[in-house]
Amino acid sequence: MRPLIAHIDLAAIRHNYDLAKRCAPGRQAFAVVKANAYGHGVREVVTCLQDLADGFAVASLEEAAEVRALHGNARILLLEGCFEPNEYRVAAQLCLDVVVQNEAQAAALLAGALPAALNVWLKLDSGMHRLGFSASALRECFTRLRGAGQVAELNLISHFACADLRGHSLNEDQLACFLALLDLDFDQRSLANSAAVLTIPAAHMDWIRPGIMLYGATPFADLSAAELGLQPAMTLSARLIAIREVAPGESVGYGAAWVAQRPSRIGTVSCGYADGYPRHAPSGTPLLVNGQRAALAGRVSMDMLAVDLTDLPDAALGDPVELWGKHLPIDEVAAHAGSIGYELLTKVTARVPRKYSA
Ligand SMILES: *Cc1c(COP(=O)(O)O)cnc(C)c1O
Repeated sequence: MRPLIAHIDLAAIRHNYDLAKRCAPGRQAFAVVKANAYGHGVREVVTCLQDLADGFAVASLEEAAEVRALHGNARILLLEGCFEPNEYRVAAQLCLDVVVQNEAQAAALLAGALPAALNVWLKLDSGMHRLGFSASALRECFTRLRGAGQVAELNLISHFACADLRGHSLNEDQLACFLALLDLDFDQRSLANSAAVLTIPAAHMDWIRPGIMLYGATPFADLSAAELGLQPAMTLSARLIAIREVAPGESVGYGAAWVAQRPSRIGTVSCGYADGYPRHAPSGTPLLVNGQRAALAGRVSMDMLAVDLTDLPDAALGDPVELWGKHLPIDEVAAHAGSIGYELLTKVTARVPRKYSA
C-alpha cells in the first residue's frame, strides 16, 4: 500500500466545536460541513458531531441530502439557497433551512405550493458584495415573505468579508448594516464565521457558523491555531521511499529547479500534487521527517516530492514524513505556498485514504 494517509482526529473536531460554543455562550451553532467537511469526510464529521451540533451548513442540495441521510432531524442550512426553482420542493421534503439571496430565489420560493413551509434566511449584502439584498431591498422582501405559506421562520443572515483582518473598518460597517435591520422582527439572526466567532463577540447573534476552526486551522494570518486553542484535525502522513546523495552543482526534480550548494542528501517522499499537496510550494517549505524539520527541495511532482535531509543524518528509508498536521501547522505550509489552510484541506484528493480516530 502506498504510504500516504490523512489521519483525521474526530476528538479534535469535537474539541474545536466545543471551543466555538464556549466563545459564544448561549448561542446555537451551524457546524459548516460543506466541501466534504473541508476535506475531512462529511459522513464521519457529521456522525462525530451528531449529538453535539445544533445544526449543519452546506453549499448545495446534494451536500444537504447527504447530511440529511445521516441525521434525520438536524437543522441543515443551505448557505447559497436553491440554484433552480424545482429545488425548493426537494428542500422542503428534506426539511432544510434555505438562504434567499436574490429576487429570483424569492420569486421561485413563492411561486408554488410546497410540501412543508421552509425556514428562510434572508441574506443581507452588508458589504462583501457577493450575495444578498441591499438593506432596502431586504426590507421589501421581508414584507412579502412574512406570512407567506411557504415560509416558516423568517431569519436574517449576512457574511463578513474581512473578519480575518482584526480591526478592519469594514467589519464595523458590516456589523452596523446588520444591526440597522434588527427593528424587523426576525425569528433568528446569524452573522459570524470562524474569525468572527473568535474575535467579534458583538456579531455572535443567535446562530454562529464556524467552519475552518472546527478543523483546527486558523482563519487569521497573525494568530496561530495553537494560540487560539484549536487542535488540528488532519495530519497528512507519508514516508521516505528513496534516499540519495547529490553532489554540489547537481539538480533535483523537474525543471532542475533545485541545485545542491553542498554535498546533499535528498529524500523522496510519497506525496505529490495529485494528492493535494500544493504544487506551488517553493523549496524551503517545511516538512517533518521523524518529527524533525526539513525543507522541500525542488518542484513538487504528481506523486512525489523531495526533501533535503542533509542536516538530518539519521533519517532513513521508510521514515515517517508529516506534510502538515499535529506537529506542523497547515497554516505554515499554506503561507509558504501562497495559500490558506482552507484551500489545502479542501484539495486533499480522493485517492488519499482517510483514517479516523475517535
Ligand atoms: C463557508 C462559510 C462559513 C464558514 O466560514 P469559516 O471561515 O470556514 O468559518 C460561514 N458562512 C458562510 C456563508 C460560508 O459560506
